[in-house]
Amino acid sequence: VFQLSIPLNFLGSVYREMRQAFTDMEHLFSLKQINIQVKDAPNAKDLAMKGGSLQFDNVSFAYNPNRPILKDCSFHIPAGNKVAFVGPSGCGKSTLLRLLFRFYDANSGKIMIDGQPLTSITIKSLRDAIGVVPQDTPLFNDTIKYNIGYGNPKASEEEIIQAAKRAQIHHIIETFPDGYETKVGERGLMISGGEKQRLAISRLLLKNPDILFFDEATSALDTSTEKELLQNVNSLIQKSRKTSIFIAHRLRTIKNCDIIYVLKDGQVVEQGTHEELLKLNGVYASMWHSQESIVDDGTFTKKE
Ligand code: ATP
Repeated sequence: VFQLSIPLNFLGSVYREMRQAFTDMEHLFSLKQINIQVKDAPNAKDLAMKGGSLQFDNVSFAYNPNRPILKDCSFHIPAGNKVAFVGPSGCGKSTLLRLLFRFYDANSGKIMIDGQPLTSITIKSLRDAIGVVPQDTPLFNDTIKYNIGYGNPKASEEEIIQAAKRAQIHHIIETFPDGYETKVGERGLMISGGEKQRLAISRLLLKNPDILFFDEATSALDTSTEKELLQNVNSLIQKSRKTSIFIAHRLRTIKNCDIIYVLKDGQVVEQGTHEELLKLNGVYASMWHSQESIVDDGTFTKKE
């Protein structure tokens, strides 16, 4: 298991304002990938949210100059939409999120939230506006209360309980030996993946970001766990009407998105609804058919 508490505590004392983002992001990015060279422009302004639309305009990016990851990549996510990015492993889906969080800056092109280029807004206001729900939620070796309250250090106990209720984890916490004071994490009570995710959702409810980002675990989950996780996520989205972005591996989970973007060779090569993309009979359709021919136990089932 990835040891988080030491580097997080260390970084927290040095880059206090970045801790929030790290808590959410460690699942997606190993800490060494974070480029702390990215700084606020001298005249940077706080992000002025107007619904949470997101635009990538001809964005190119490479970690190493000889290996471009994004090549003139463009797409527009309308405010309040529920969208997903799919594509072959390593095509750059998580890179989009790293650029959005400004862990890196694009080599060329422009990324904008509500028409404001990321490079012109303060990093803190940018990261405050985005919340991430990883499927494998990192927990601090601390109490349940601490782990939820981390979403908003100013939250009162009442607000923490309220968030837990909305994330449907309160009734479970009440059964723990010390309630909200129960220690979790590697040295505490072991809790299930679904419960961890509900903790992440309650943390997010306290943070109340305008843009929600969901990362889907690559590892195969059993059907009932997958169903539970999806229900957690859907109940959060339905209540919020916020711009929600999914990085998806299992296409079944994102079928109902408003727009699905297919990323390949550094660009969005297809976009549309699930039905539209199936009709296109291109990259998405072939990914869909190959995934749907395999059922959860790994055996093949007959295609329609
Ligand atoms: P997956 O579906 O497997 O999670 P992905 O589409 O999210 O993959 P990214 O994590 O965005 O892919 O990575 C895109 C490519 O960039 C990969 O080939 C990866 O190996 C490479 N890459 C990622 N981070 C770095 C880094 N810090 N330095 C160099 N190359 C990197």
